[in-house]
Amino acid sequence: MTSEHSAATVTVLGLGPMGRALAGAFLDAGIPTTVWNRTPGKDRDLAARGAISAPAPEDAVAASALTVVCVVDYDAADAVLRRDEVTRALKDRTVANLTADTPDRARQTADWAAEHGIGYLDGAIMTPTTTIGTPDAVLLLSGPEDLYRRHRPVLDALGGNQTHLGEDIGRAAAYDVALLDFFWTTMTGYAHALAVARAEGVSARELAPFAKGIGALLPPFIEQSAEDVDNGRYSGEDSPITSAAASMSHIVHISETHGVDAGVMRAAEGLARRVIGQGHGENGFLQITELLQPR
Ligand code: NDP
Repeated sequence: MTSEHSAATVTVLGLGPMGRALAGAFLDAGIPTTVWNRTPGKDRDLAARGAISAPAPEDAVAASALTVVCVVDYDAADAVLRRDEVTRALKDRTVANLTADTPDRARQTADWAAEHGIGYLDGAIMTPTTTIGTPDAVLLLSGPEDLYRRHRPVLDALGGNQTHLGEDIGRAAAYDVALLDFFWTTMTGYAHALAVARAEGVSARELAPFAKGIGALLPPFIEQSAEDVDNGRYSGEDSPITSAAASMSHIVHISETHGVDAGVMRAAEGLARRVIGQGHGENGFLQITELLQPR
């Protein structure tokens, strides 16, 4: 970190919906904030609220001790950070990359940063733009503890619920991909359920109170099953996977009767049937976790 820049300054590279929300939260916290975006014009509202608009990314990063990057993916982040003039301007400063991508890309970026004398934190944002700067924001960060501590006063402006997951730089992205896997497969299931319901003349509005009830089953199930999964125990005492597979085949049948694509449910049923074929039919549904492990 350069001595001429106070630790309590920040630059935001990338002014998509999330980058704008991050920059807005820094401004709301009274932190001098410099912004830059590849396509001009997205800084207008932020500038009106007091942000400094930098003409080029190298000027933007030179303005602050900490640069927060939030673009579409790591190819986009690389396209900005790895420009020679930007890399040079970042020397002895810190990048906190809150762009979503994979753990290997986070590790590659950390190697690049280390080669160029740049401090590096990697992070993932787990909640929508509207939560940023509020107690509902959930942010995961990984990387050197001392670097995280140093920039914590600035990062705290982003919201109430931040977790530093440790020094393994890929850890935040690992949580991110696992959690988004959960989210998108669940959302796909919900979209399929809505299509089946509509085919039966049931509207989303009519289904909603009961769909919320199904959703509410998940948090206690996640909590109760965690230790068993980590110990390879998949008791099916209350609900064996044979029963789940039977229910799934009914869903496949009714979907296809209505001409609703049943590919997602067929894939899920296929996994359940393979587990049963392995002789684990009396176990619970999460036995599939073992099936999916690489050999
Ligand atoms: P996008 O994911 O659409 O990212 C848009 C930003 O990426 C813009 O600033 C865009 O610049 C920039 N960008 C794209 N390609 C390039 C490139 N080649 N070079 C430079 N900049 C580029 O929108 P969000 O802001 O919503 O998301 C940013 C990150 O935040 C993503 O990784 C996303 O997964 C994550 N996130 C978003 C959430 C949300 O609710 N929006 C929630 C949680 C995480 P330009 O304007 O020039 O196109």
